[in-house]
Amino acid sequence: IEQARLARYEKQTALEAPFTDVLLLFADTTLAELRAGRTFRTEQAPDEVRDRVRDALKFLSDEDSQSFDPDLMGALLNGETTDLFYAHVRRQNGDPLMFMLNPHEAEAVSLSTKSSRRGYSRDREVLAQFPRAARPRDAQVTGERIDAAEIRRYVMNIALPASGIGEIAFSATARLDITASTPVGPWVAFALFEKLKVDSARWDGGGAATVFKGKDGELLWVHLGTRMQPGETRTLVVSYHGDLIDRDIDFFRIKSSVAWYPLSLEYRALAVFDLTFTTSDAYLVASVGERVDSSRNGRMVTSRWLTPGPIRNASFNLGLFKDYTVREAGIPPVTVMISEEAHKKLVRQYGLAQQRKMRETVAGDVSKSLHFFQKVYGPTQVKHFYATEIPDDHGEAFPGMIHLSWATFQKTDDQGGDEIFRGHEVAHQWWGIGVDYMTYHDRWLSEGFSTFSGLWYMQTIRKSNDKYFGQLRDYRASIFQRREIPGPISLGHRVRSSKDTDVDDYSTIVYKKGAWAVHMLRILMLDLKSMSEDRFTGTMQDFYQSYQGKRASTADFRRVVERHTGTDMGWFFDQWIYGTALPTYKVAYKVDPLDGGQHRVRLRVQQEGVPDGFMMYVPVTLDLGKDRVARVRVKVTGPVSELTLPPMPAEPKAVRFNDLEGVLAEVKMVDWRN
Ligand SMILES: [Zn+2]
Repeated sequence: IEQARLARYEKQTALEAPFTDVLLLFADTTLAELRAGRTFRTEQAPDEVRDRVRDALKFLSDEDSQSFDPDLMGALLNGETTDLFYAHVRRQNGDPLMFMLNPHEAEAVSLSTKSSRRGYSRDREVLAQFPRAARPRDAQVTGERIDAAEIRRYVMNIALPASGIGEIAFSATARLDITASTPVGPWVAFALFEKLKVDSARWDGGGAATVFKGKDGELLWVHLGTRMQPGETRTLVVSYHGDLIDRDIDFFRIKSSVAWYPLSLEYRALAVFDLTFTTSDAYLVASVGERVDSSRNGRMVTSRWLTPGPIRNASFNLGLFKDYTVREAGIPPVTVMISEEAHKKLVRQYGLAQQRKMRETVAGDVSKSLHFFQKVYGPTQVKHFYATEIPDDHGEAFPGMIHLSWATFQKTDDQGGDEIFRGHEVAHQWWGIGVDYMTYHDRWLSEGFSTFSGLWYMQTIRKSNDKYFGQLRDYRASIFQRREIPGPISLGHRVRSSKDTDVDDYSTIVYKKGAWAVHMLRILMLDLKSMSEDRFTGTMQDFYQSYQGKRASTADFRRVVERHTGTDMGWFFDQWIYGTALPTYKVAYKVDPLDGGQHRVRLRVQQEGVPDGFMMYVPVTLDLGKDRVARVRVKVTGPVSELTLPPMPAEPKAVRFNDLEGVLAEVKMVDWRN
């Protein structure tokens, strides 16, 4: 996989290239090794060398915001001796290469090059990344980063006053419980949205704290005073403010949905949140967790939100919202917050079509999909569910809260796309939040599962198999258009490349192909006689129950699937999750009469586009007339499969190979030739 990835950029699977100069940064024994047999002295560097160094460092730093790669910076600031090593290699031909060995990442070894994204020409883009061969993955590590300082608890007061010109200002005081599982510091870095500025910082019950954040930088550096030992907790109180919220017509956009508070560099370490918001009564606020308190003081309204346990990311939303609450037995209350005035302006000023009953329509899908997912996956822990509107074209999910694009309020498309979108965001309560994914390789367990869930919900609520299969066929068209170029589902966000900016490979592979993978399991587990889905729903319920509140990997999911199929499923995951091959089936069939009015059906399937060992069980449906169908499943593997179906009681009127879209494949019917 990593070689294929390298080939996508460099057109070869191994690199050998002449280089003109190399810049090394390290915290390991490289200097001692270089000193053996050589002598070094300090000297004023010639201008040309300084220019080259500056040029190389631009890939690690941003001068304007005075920021520098946090792991290299941390090692230098803390005088650490670790395995950290970085080499910038300027090649004679082609873009520079950066090799890094970073002990703070679970996949410590990486090779990067210059990103070709326009506007970010100095950004690095990872070509290949993997763990060190000699170091098997630590079973304790369930994420991308290790040895980092973490914030386990937040107590925050957030002020969101109207700023007089129709804007909303943002300021916050946050009490952060900083801890770590290995010694860290004294300097530690956290992420914080670039537009936020620190006003003050002090230690709880103690003196001033030293912190640093460059102008428009994305890192908040905190000096812990001394190195912090495992098990220690230090509480920092930091006040900050900044340009976080934009107004767009009558919508408000929160420009960073997660980095509006300091958070670990992995962006998804677990923490508990105790959030108090104060704003004008012109605005409604919703946040994660449970609203435990709400009070009014003049025109100011204060509400307090507590998460019952640790969660991954916290968010909030506010606006000139009208709220609308649905209370139904069996699900938590659902509150939808919508900017109705903004929609009126969209109609008046831009002539946009608007569906009737916007809030009822969206609230209907949110509550119905909550019902549906509880039934098929298991009960949710959420006490009250909020769906709030954002002026963007995407959605986002947090515990007990989702953000939905204004567009899905505006209208509902006829092909089921909006039900899928709304269902997708609701389904994240199960996939992504309920069951978190282990590393970026497992991201499809969140996005592919949620996309599939949206599809399944849409199929159920619209009572339309046609729309369900129609969407799958659309997904298939995008997947076949890109074929093997992006790489496998297991590559996660790395299927995206700055070399291909006109396509969304991340969506195509992780969302759409990921959804296809779940759909294929659904069809594989379908009982073709009774059409019962019990085995599939049992698998999904088991997976949810087994991993709720934990991080799960693709291997974990495979084990659950195998519990329910009772057979090794490695071939399925190798082909569809870790593999990129897509089969084309050329299918011919022949019907011969047998004694007693029965008919023999023979199938000849040529399998193309995949390795010979590629194997799938393909559903075949035979239309026997008079509303009778026969369903069978055939095993297709190798270049040609000659298959004889069980005798049929009537002559088939039609043979549907790969019925129910059982396999992500192209099917071409061809003539039978002897
Ligand atoms: Zn999603």
